[in-house]
Amino acid sequence: MGEMDRRSGSRRLVVAGAGLPGLTLAVALKQAHGPALDLAVCDPGLPAGATRHRGRAYAVAAGPRRMLERLGLWARIAPAAEPMRRLVITDSRVGDPVRPVFLTFGDGTDAAPIEGEPFAHMVEAEPMAAALLDAARDAGVRLVPKGLRAAVPEAGGIRAMFGDETSEKVSLVVAADGARSALREAAQIGWVGWSYPQSGIVATVRHSRDHEGRAFEHFLPSGPFAILPLRAGGELGHRSSIVWTERSADVPALLGGDAAETLGEIERRFGAELGRIDLEHGPSAHPLAFGIARSFRAQRLALLGDAAHVIHPVAGQGLNLGLAGAAALAEAVTEALRLGLDPGTDDVLKTYERARRFDTVAMAAATDGLNRLFSNGSMTLRLSRDLGLGLVDRLPGLKTFFIGQAAGRRAQGPRLLRGEAL
Ligand SMILES: Cc1cc2nc3c(=O)[nH]c(=O)nc-3n(C[C@H](O)[C@H](O)[C@H](O)COP(=O)(O)OP(=O)(O)OC[C@H]3O[C@@H](n4cnc5c(N)ncnc54)[C@H](O)[C@@H]3O)c2cc1C
Repeated sequence: MGEMDRRSGSRRLVVAGAGLPGLTLAVALKQAHGPALDLAVCDPGLPAGATRHRGRAYAVAAGPRRMLERLGLWARIAPAAEPMRRLVITDSRVGDPVRPVFLTFGDGTDAAPIEGEPFAHMVEAEPMAAALLDAARDAGVRLVPKGLRAAVPEAGGIRAMFGDETSEKVSLVVAADGARSALREAAQIGWVGWSYPQSGIVATVRHSRDHEGRAFEHFLPSGPFAILPLRAGGELGHRSSIVWTERSADVPALLGGDAAETLGEIERRFGAELGRIDLEHGPSAHPLAFGIARSFRAQRLALLGDAAHVIHPVAGQGLNLGLAGAAALAEAVTEALRLGLDPGTDDVLKTYERARRFDTVAMAAATDGLNRLFSNGSMTLRLSRDLGLGLVDRLPGLKTFFIGQAAGRRAQGPRLLRGEAL
């Protein structure tokens, strides 16, 4: 039994996984509770940390952005963030000269921007991870460069067993160890999921025309092709991130040629709106899957981020769900700690699960449905979805609801997402 074990088990937490949701949770909790809470984040990828995120960018919705602001991180992230002012959705085939626009967000006629805020910012993952790692260090989070091998409940706590055979007794382990979470499996939490026959191809491009904060999503027969506006140092507006969904079977042929051929495939889908394009980073392909844990908790164990849910990137919401989970879990743990209660009990974990279960399942189902509806070349489907989307665009109330969901503007949602302190 180490020195740590002699301290009270009830104010000690281990977060396994230094991804963006795991680090956000750690920063939020440590900032709120200071030295009264012993909090370790362990990950075999530490201390290299931020560099593994290079070339990735995420649409961070307004709610999670407000949380980053509340945690004092936004000022650092903002220079690498581009406000998304408008989202233009088209339904077309590769090579169509004209792409009919079916839905727009943020054109001044609807709810975006929300009370003066854009509905999302495109944020590069590397500076975001670097800001989170610095904030974690500043707040006194212990960053442990080891994997967590197992988490075994014992009387009054749970034993966190690291890869190097050391262990600590804590009151709660947070499994933020990604989609293939070994901790979720070891806790025998079921997983409802499947692989899509699709891959997500991500790349960063430069283009000759200014994007003016516009994001485009072209629904092509093999899947959505998104062009998302990035910040570009001195050349504002001439850089975008691509998230391109393709049938996995077609990926080797599409990306297997030389750089000019790959660029040609991107250009055919990109459209002419932003002028001439060049590749800056990538492309890299990632197999896509859907999955949701049957429960977000086991005894003294909470699932967070992709360990709890993996969704299609069609609406750019996977990380946002993980950040919303971090806000809800930080709040449930904080309520217990403020009352002098053990933060690892079933009551605390049930509060967390109740706060996130419904929204997570709703978003997972919506993104799966959206992908299925559009990843299909049939004319009948094309007609029905055209009518469907046209309808959404004509119903400002529904559109406001979608944007509100993305923005985390629900009165009963976690405080951090509303920009309030824990
Ligand atoms: C193509 C594509 C585009 C996307 N675009 C968007 C977007 O625009 N917006 C958005 O919101 N989301 C997006 N997502 C989703 C987003 O990438 C994920 O939801 C998010 O990165 C998940 O973070 P995570 O920390 O849960 O998991 P991960 O990033 O997988 O991190 C898990 C961490 O756990 C560590 N780990 C693993 N095992 C252990 C262990 N035993 N002990 C300790 N540590 C361990 C790993 O080293 C890793 O650092 C996209 C996803 C894809 C595939």
